[in-house]
Amino acid sequence: MTHCFKAVKTIELSKRQEQIIVIVKEEGPITGEKIAEHLNLTRATLRPDLAILTMSGFLDARPKVGYFYTGKKGNQLIGEALAKMLVKDYKARPIVIKEDSSVYDAIVTMFLEDVGTLVVIKSNNSLAGVVSRKDLLKAAIGKQNLQEIPVSIIMTRMPNIITCQMEESLLEAANRLINNQIDFLPVVRKLENKELEVIGRVTKTTITKAFVELGIDKDI
Ligand code: ADP
Repeated sequence: MTHCFKAVKTIELSKRQEQIIVIVKEEGPITGEKIAEHLNLTRATLRPDLAILTMSGFLDARPKVGYFYTGKKGNQLIGEALAKMLVKDYKARPIVIKEDSSVYDAIVTMFLEDVGTLVVIKSNNSLAGVVSRKDLLKAAIGKQNLQEIPVSIIMTRMPNIITCQMEESLLEAANRLINNQIDFLPVVRKLENKELEVIGRVTKTTITKAFVELGIDKDI
């Protein structure tokens, strides 16, 4: 798919080739002779253009019928569009709390920031863990004082955190969410000390937004 997308991107159509596509779109199936008439050119002059347009898949030709417009198949276009959607273009900002914050503070932050998962960071700001709604609910049904329990006790911690990176595609990130049955991926960058800096978040909402965008994209 990626290869296919690159191939399409590098084809620069000439003005005349674009005119041919317009004619064939409107009047196809149409013979080479007729296209030449439209453009006040000879059939021979057009031959290289028609060869390029058929080879690159814009037009198809049938003997005795003529040229007709094929464009590209729907699933091919969706695949190309998906490969273009990168984590770095869709990520949201991460909502973080320090690992010595209380479970109570985590619950308040979750409500104030309107998110379902928080990133827990160390004092040097590197990734320590994540805490989700269910983690907090679990802590809340115990009899403990939520203001006294540090969030680091109930979080899912490193090295068990599933992450993604800026240059990955949203499709890869979505696949990781599904395979691990989670709602949230921190977008990370490796620091010199091998720890991870959190620079964004990808959630099921991110994927849903991109899905809707794909559906209403007029270019597809
Ligand atoms: P919720 O608790 O709201 O259903 P999830 O399904 O994402 O949210 O969380 C399920 C469990 O997976 C929780 O214990 C949470 O800490 C953990 N979790 C969430 N995101 C990740 C992640 N990116 N990597 C590892 N564990 C995670």
